[in-house]
This record gives sequence, structure tokens and C-alpha cells, in this order.
Amino acid sequence: MDDVSHAAWGFLAWHGTPYPALAAFMSVFPDILGVLPPYIAAFFHNKGSWSATWNKQNMPSWHHPYKTVMYPWTHSILVSFGVAGAGTLLFGWSASWLFAWPLHVLIDIFTHPRRKAPAFLWPLHSVRVHSFSWWNRTFMIANYAAIIVVGAFVLV
Ligand SMILES: [Zn+2]
Repeated sequence: MDDVSHAAWGFLAWHGTPYPALAAFMSVFPDILGVLPPYIAAFFHNKGSWSATWNKQNMPSWHHPYKTVMYPWTHSILVSFGVAGAGTLLFGWSASWLFAWPLHVLIDIFTHPRRKAPAFLWPLHSVRVHSFSWWNRTFMIANYAAIIVVGAFVLV
């Protein structure tokens, strides 16, 4: 799912608590940590040119190794539940927004096709659910319609 939708669902799920903004951030955290750093490095290396940054030939040499290591760790239901559970045990419900991380992973499990499906039981197992891609018109319309409907119920 796109990160605007991840943030929206995290925000809505934690609306009514003091932490919807933190939950929205935590809802995109797995993609920020798992995917973004090589793109930021490429952006500065390419002197701020977005078109050069999106060209895979201009990515830093550590792009693929970074993603190969970080994506499974940031998209593991075991790791995310472990961190969120430990945080909540240590700090109580004031840290409940950490559970927006496993929410992100749960959504990704069922919205990513074969190549990009998260190995959600990492590091114990590399099993993946081969689902559909969120990157299609029907899902995007249904998803944003659901965000608007749920948002109307929750926020109004
Ligand atoms: Zn993700």
C-alpha cells in the first residue's frame, strides 16, 4: 500500500488516543527505514535531481545490499510485534502507537505481489503471501473510499 494510505490508516486506528500523529509516523516507519536511505543518498549524490535519483543506474552501490538486509527486518511481523510489545511492556499504553508498525506489515502482507511480498516471519522463515499489487486503479479507489468513509465515521 502507498505510504499516504498507511499513514491515514494508522492515524484513524489511533484516533481517540493521544497518539494518532505518532501512529501515523509509525505506519510509514518500515518503508522509511527499509527503503528510503539509498534514495536520500542518491538524491544528494545527484545534486538534488529527482529524475537522476529515480534512475536505478544512479543509485549508490550499497542500495541492493541495504534493501536486501533492511526490508525483511522492517517488514517482519515477528520483529515489529516484538518491538511494539517490548515498548508497551516497558512504557505502558503510552507506547501503544508502536503497534502501527505491525499494522503496516499486516497490510503489506496482503497487498504485495510475489517479488515484493514481505517475508513476514523473518528471521525465522522466509515464507511470503503472494497477493495482488496495491498499485492498481480498483484497489486504490476502494482503499481511498474506505479511508474517507472510516475517516468520516471516526473524525466527524
Ligand atoms: Zn512496507
